[in-house]
Parts: sequence; structure tokens; C-alpha cells
Amino acid sequence: MAAKRIFADEDFTCPVCCDIFTDPVLLQCSHSVCKACVEQYWITKPFRQCPICRKRSKRNPPINLALRNLCEAFLEDRNQRASEVLCALHDEKLKLFCLDDKEPVCLVCRDSSKHKDHRFRPVDEAVRDVKEEIRRTLIPLNEKKRVLEKAKQTFIQKEQYVQSQGKTTEKLIKEEFLKLHQFLFKEQESRMTAVREERRIKCEIIQKKVETMDREISSVIQIIREVEKRLGVNNISVLQNFKDTLKQ
Ligand SMILES: [Zn+2]
Ligand SMILES: [Zn+2]
Ligand SMILES: [Zn+2]
Ligand SMILES: [Zn+2]
Repeated sequence: MAAKRIFADEDFTCPVCCDIFTDPVLLQCSHSVCKACVEQYWITKPFRQCPICRKRSKRNPPINLALRNLCEAFLEDRNQRASEVLCALHDEKLKLFCLDDKEPVCLVCRDSSKHKDHRFRPVDEAVRDVKEEIRRTLIPLNEKKRVLEKAKQTFIQKEQYVQSQGKTTEKLIKEEFLKLHQFLFKEQESRMTAVREERRIKCEIIQKKVETMDREISSVIQIIREVEKRLGVNNISVLQNFKDTLKQ
């Protein structure tokens, strides 16, 4: 661990992307660059050259395995150091947990007057206990979740019932109004037929009467003509036929 720390970030930094090397390739000039970086660089150039010293390079340069392994080890070490929190007062690892103050402490803290007569647990054990406690708080929460979900289910079922009931009522209304429409249409038709029939009969009677009148008128016209003829003959005949004329 201590040996690794003699390296600094810049030893593993690609000169093109300025990040820790990813799959570094070894060029003929012995410079190293990320595989992706050099390929990207070559797209813009007429021939393959080193992005640092401009010397020509062969196609498909080999991966610099040694450098790649060192980069991986360096990143792993850096991540580990980042996750390792040290005591703010003594810069020592926080190996213990003070049960009275409920805080992680280092070995120097334990012997300090601040934690005199306090009870301690190894951090791993304390983590286990705390996790157990957290798990216990989950029990009522899970129960609450279960109750809420059950209540939600009830509401969903109610909604489904309301939906289906509404649809059934809609269907019934449609059916009833359809029947009503059919009934009204038939009723209209039968009344119209009755009115037409009545009109036809009345008109027929009137026409018959008109025909009778026509016949009477023409017979009267006939008589008028007969009478007018008699007016034209000699005077004695008028007197002789007078009685007959009156009879007509
Ligand atoms: Zn790079
Ligand atoms: Zn070079
Ligand atoms: Zn401390
Ligand atoms: Zn304490």
C-alpha cells in the first residue's frame, strides 16, 4: 500500500484526454496514449503519428499492459482511500464506536478524557447492530405499506364497480329510449293513416254529392230549354200547353 502511494495522478494521466489512462497503447516512440484517444486523433490526421512527439507510428499499436495494470491498481487504491474516513481530531482510523455518544471514534479518542468510562464496540459490530436496528424500524413501515396497499385495492375495486354499474345503467337507458322511439314512430304512422283514411272518405262523399248536383243541374237545364222552345211557338199553342208547362 505504502509503495503504491509514491505514484502521483500525473504518472497515470493521458496527455490527450488528461484523465487516468483507459487501455493505454504503446507507440513506437515509446509514448503511451489511451487507445480511444489515439484512434480519435488519427481520424483528423493524414498519417498516423504520436500526438506528443509527432513521430510516425504503426497501425494497431500494442496495449501497454504494465501501465494498464498500474492504472487499475492506482484507481483501486485511490477509491479505497476516498472511502476511508479518518478521525478529524487525531487523523487515525475510526475503529471504535462509542455507545454513549453514538459516534465512531479512534483509539486515541477512546483514551481521551472526553470518553472517560464510556462503552465501546468495534465499528464492524456497531454497524451490524445499527443495521439490525434500521431493519427493525422497517417492520412497522412495511406493515403500514401493506395496510395502505390493501386500502388502495378496496378503492380500485369500488371504482371498477362504479364503472360497470354506470355502463349497465347507460345501456338500460339506451334500450328504453330505443323502445320509446319505436313505439312513437308506430303511433305516428297509425295516426297519419287514420287521418288520411278519414280525409279520403269525406272527399268521396262530397264528390258523390257534387255528381248528384251536376245531374240535377243538367236535368233542370234540359227543362229550361224545353220551356224556352215553347215560348217560340204560336200564341194559342202557348195557352193550350200552359197547364203542361206548370206541371213540369
Ligand atoms: Zn486519453
Ligand atoms: Zn511520441
Ligand atoms: Zn480520535
Ligand atoms: Zn464517548
